[in-house]
Amino acid sequence: MLLRQLKESVSNLPGVGPSALKGYAALGVKTCADLLMLSPRSYDDRSTVVPVNAVGSEGRVNTFVEVTGKDYIGGGAKRTLKITVKDISENGRGRLSLVCFGRNFLDKTVRIGSRYYINAACTRYNTELQTTSFSLFPLDGGSPEAGGFGQILPVYPLAKNLSERILRRDVAAVLSGVQRFDNELPDYLYPKYGLMSTDDAIRSFHFPKETGDSERARRTLAFTELFYLCLSSRKLGNRINTRRNAPGRLLPSEEKLIRSLPFSLTNSQKRALDEIRADLDGETSMNRILQGDVGSGKTLVAWIAAVHEAAKGFQTAFMAPTELLARQHEKGAKDLLEPLGIRVAALTGATDGKTRKDVLKRLSDGEIDVIIGTHALFSDDVNYKKLGLAIIDEQHRFGVKQRKALLAKALDPHVLSMTATPIPRTLALTLYGDINVSELTEMPPGRLPVVTYLVDSSRREAMYKSIGVEFARGHRAYFVYPKIDDETGDKSLRDVKNMFEFLKGKYPGVPSALLHSHLSEDEKLDALERFRRGELKYLVATSVVEVGLDVPEATCMVIEHAERFGLAALHQLRGRVGRSSLQSWCFLVYSDDISENGKARLRAMKETTDGFVIAERDLELRGPGEIMGVKQSGFARLRYADTEKDADLLRFVRKEADTLDQNEYPIIAAMQEEG
Ligand code: ADP
Ligand code: MG
Repeated sequence: MLLRQLKESVSNLPGVGPSALKGYAALGVKTCADLLMLSPRSYDDRSTVVPVNAVGSEGRVNTFVEVTGKDYIGGGAKRTLKITVKDISENGRGRLSLVCFGRNFLDKTVRIGSRYYINAACTRYNTELQTTSFSLFPLDGGSPEAGGFGQILPVYPLAKNLSERILRRDVAAVLSGVQRFDNELPDYLYPKYGLMSTDDAIRSFHFPKETGDSERARRTLAFTELFYLCLSSRKLGNRINTRRNAPGRLLPSEEKLIRSLPFSLTNSQKRALDEIRADLDGETSMNRILQGDVGSGKTLVAWIAAVHEAAKGFQTAFMAPTELLARQHEKGAKDLLEPLGIRVAALTGATDGKTRKDVLKRLSDGEIDVIIGTHALFSDDVNYKKLGLAIIDEQHRFGVKQRKALLAKALDPHVLSMTATPIPRTLALTLYGDINVSELTEMPPGRLPVVTYLVDSSRREAMYKSIGVEFARGHRAYFVYPKIDDETGDKSLRDVKNMFEFLKGKYPGVPSALLHSHLSEDEKLDALERFRRGELKYLVATSVVEVGLDVPEATCMVIEHAERFGLAALHQLRGRVGRSSLQSWCFLVYSDDISENGKARLRAMKETTDGFVIAERDLELRGPGEIMGVKQSGFARLRYADTEKDADLLRFVRKEADTLDQNEYPIIAAMQEEG
């Protein structure tokens, strides 16, 4: 079977109850396939004996010991058991002390004279080698193999309620339930590139037999991953566009628009527009990604491109990932483009009945020049008179299917994808090959970096106070909470509805509104518009405000339970402020029980506002085992492959994808079917 066909829920595994399930959910693991697609962060090599004497000032031992003494250190309730042992392996003279913090119960089971297999992280204090982190496995009546001796154990990223023991148990259970995983690549590629079979690779990645196996396994899985990524990108726009086009023409209406702006374009915007114009006037269709961090001004570039197409008599379709964002863009486009005589309309899932009919008719009659919407723009019954340009905002939020539907609407429209998601340029170029990249490398002038504060419960009041000062200055704020009300989800979390009431008390007379997904589209839009106009001073919201919203006077972003949000989401949320020359602030409020890793992630947010650096920190902190999740994380991410370490693979993969006759290999269709 294919790994991806293991769709059974992990809840069916023996021993997995509600609490472990929560942990799995936090790791993005629902099915057994998801579980096997977790990557170990590292490995705990217990394959050979590492005696106590081999450790200098710090290191791991993996050896056999005999208990020589027991004692207590400290007094009263805080007294701690200390067990001393001697090494009985090979050269056996080493001594080690086991400091049993929170494990005084070992006094009952551990006897002087008993023998154990031990694996421990040790540190030397003066002359004494100590460990506080160890596992002990009795040798009397048990074999050390059962305690992990002789094996290389995977070390997975953990979530609450999960331990390495549980993860290893569950991964092993899934692996033993599958007879054999089918090869995921055409067979000839395995010997050609020295790859392991898919079955070996999956098993060795989790439980390598020898040192080195795990890396070979990873390379095999990385090859497979890159191969399919490459194929799916080819499918999207199968045209080679490496030729540089001659410069395009700056049309009068574009000039007029640019002159009407209250600011001038940044140099990056100008350069991107030159590149786009050259494509639009070229002989082949454009396939270009416009990358730029949040707030760098991608939307304006898109509208100018639309003006260019309109002047040439072509329609532009602009697709946004959410209804709310589509409506915001509709408004922006109308303000900017209608004065030029360009006809703008919107089409979303909420556009109903008569309006929808009317829009569809005008669209097919060519009476609309620029249409803005969600993926509803590419439903079956939508017909364009002359679609010239398709723009995909926040493109990483769309699946391959939606992007394909869009491309099928016109013979070969120009495509401009926009994203703040930093795909390393090398990766984009190598994989997509036929795509061009424009980058907005600078922010509009006068922007001040957002100042980020990490707020614990003791500093909450100070935070409310300083936001009050911002209100008095006429500035605005967002308050974001992880859930809507106390009916839903985790009871210990602050929610939008209760905090809305609470904040009313904090800021009497300051007008505000709720914004969350249980409201109708009209209500959401209304709240957002009043906020934009300044009639409302703050919005109390869920992460629906995450992408794209643009209200320049908003200077405060409060995110509660910030440790619950991924770095990508935090970066996007913070990007909602700092969108003018006003100084802005972001308050990341965290709970008292925040984990070390959670803290490290928030610190990363405090240290930089650069989306690229944050994406890299995210990868480091989560480990490469992270889901390549377009949807889940917001950062384009690879599960197994490393764009630097595997630069050679990128080259091979591209070559193979270019020369492949897909029809000959049913496995390819099967893999793509399973996603
Ligand atoms: P993003 O790249 O995140 O989509 P937007 O396109 O929403 O960012 O732009 C952010 C804000 O910057 C908008 O309010 C926009 O009007 C403004 N803006 C865009 N270009 C410039 C510029 N050259 N100078 C000043 N402000 C600009
Ligand atoms: Mg945007």
